Amino acid sequence: MQPKPLLIRVHLDDNVAIVINEDGLPAGTICPGGLALRENIPQGHKVALCQIPEGAPITRYGAAIGYAARPIAAGNWVQESLVLLPEPPVMATLPLATRLPAPLPPLEGYSFQGFRNADGTVGTRNVLGISTSVQCVAGVVDFVVARIKHELLPKYPNVDDVVGLNHAYGCGVAIDAPDAIIPIRTLRNLALNPNLGGALMVVGLGCEKLQPERLLPEGAAASPEDFPILRLQDERFHGFGEMVSAIMEMAEKRLRELDRRRREACPASALVVGLQCGGSDAFSGVTANPAVGFAADLLVRAGATVMFSEVTEVRDAIHLLTPRAADEEVGRALIREIEWYDRYLERGGADRSANTTPGNKTGGLANIVEKALGSVVKSGSTPIVAVLSPGERVRRKGLVFAATPASDFVCGTLQLASGMTLQVFTTGRGTPYGLAMAPVVKVATRSALSRRWHDLIDVDAGQIATGAATIEQVGWEIFHLILEVSSGRKQTWADRWGLHNALTLFNPAPVT
Ligand code: CA
Repeated sequence: MQPKPLLIRVHLDDNVAIVINEDGLPAGTICPGGLALRENIPQGHKVALCQIPEGAPITRYGAAIGYAARPIAAGNWVQESLVLLPEPPVMATLPLATRLPAPLPPLEGYSFQGFRNADGTVGTRNVLGISTSVQCVAGVVDFVVARIKHELLPKYPNVDDVVGLNHAYGCGVAIDAPDAIIPIRTLRNLALNPNLGGALMVVGLGCEKLQPERLLPEGAAASPEDFPILRLQDERFHGFGEMVSAIMEMAEKRLRELDRRRREACPASALVVGLQCGGSDAFSGVTANPAVGFAADLLVRAGATVMFSEVTEVRDAIHLLTPRAADEEVGRALIREIEWYDRYLERGGADRSANTTPGNKTGGLANIVEKALGSVVKSGSTPIVAVLSPGERVRRKGLVFAATPASDFVCGTLQLASGMTLQVFTTGRGTPYGLAMAPVVKVATRSALSRRWHDLIDVDAGQIATGAATIEQVGWEIFHLILEVSSGRKQTWADRWGLHNALTLFNPAPVT
């Protein structure tokens, strides 16, 4: 028996719809409304709902995702090769702060059990972070971290974990190049992430370009008590064993401090939630991202901070975002970050079309415009109140654009530096992605993926496509799960298995 054909058309103006059925639909299928399919169309791919003349816009999300390369008949498969990429939005003429959404009613009474910090921030876990000034020490730090987990952590039950903040930076780089500020401030701000409880310590080598003092918080005085630094080349160390003992001793002092901390009831407004997607497909913009957008609105209504990122996935929908900027200054900051990224790509001989992956295309996304229109939906509907350059610390509550590359690990690292304490990650193709410093709640765009990856995916937003759940229902589910995970009452699948990707710095400056 043929399955009931299911199509989703997002907007009344759309002249294409996507196929929902898991096995796609065969040629000859008669869809609701009488449309006959002329070709086999895979799941997530687009079908023309009417005749589209050559050069005419192909419309999804109520916007042109491209122009027809040749005439397309109703019922045809609108493959990637039929969709010509439109010109990117022109920055100079973008409207700024012209369409401010009406404020949503405040959402009161929601709280979580968090770790309060002296600087007023609140962590969702209690982790000892060991900062490093250079990759040379990474092997030693990994060795020590394994020993701390085995020998020291059992003695300090209120500490959740220990993480070495290893990275590829620190030496062999143009440390005074203007763009070096990005990796340097990222490292500095990573150590200030609320989940690390203000317990700073640095392991350096001694001869590296990034001297450990440069990792001090801006404007802070360098008291050795508050900011202990250990250099492996220090002449007091005779051999590896002595270095390891000294780092263990330094770490144990910090563990004692962190172990005194307890979870306490904190308002939901203390949350700093990062949003990201990876392995997107044509469902991202109709299931997972709208549900995450609904959850983002709930968080903002509760007074929390929500960050969205990924410049190359926002660029082609920037005309939808600049009108939502809280004021013209925020609008100009958005444009400044996009233009900086355009120049960065240009230097590398690439442009925005470099973003889409083979997996995106198999998943039905024709190009970056279609991907971007589906991606920005996760920002919800509230005004954008601030813009952060890569790795800057968040300063405001509400919806914030934190400019980062779209690369999952780079975006994750930069959001951690900005102060993110939990990330919500949407995926269509599937990724086992996770972060050691903050929990990652993974939301699948399709039920088939949620079923196949039943022990990796935390939320199934695919139910929205089949009508089994609404965007609002899944949005509330995500919101409640955020509160549970932030309180340490529930674990994400990635944390349960200990699946954590490496910190990956964004270094747009030259390597020497
Ligand atoms: Ca990403």
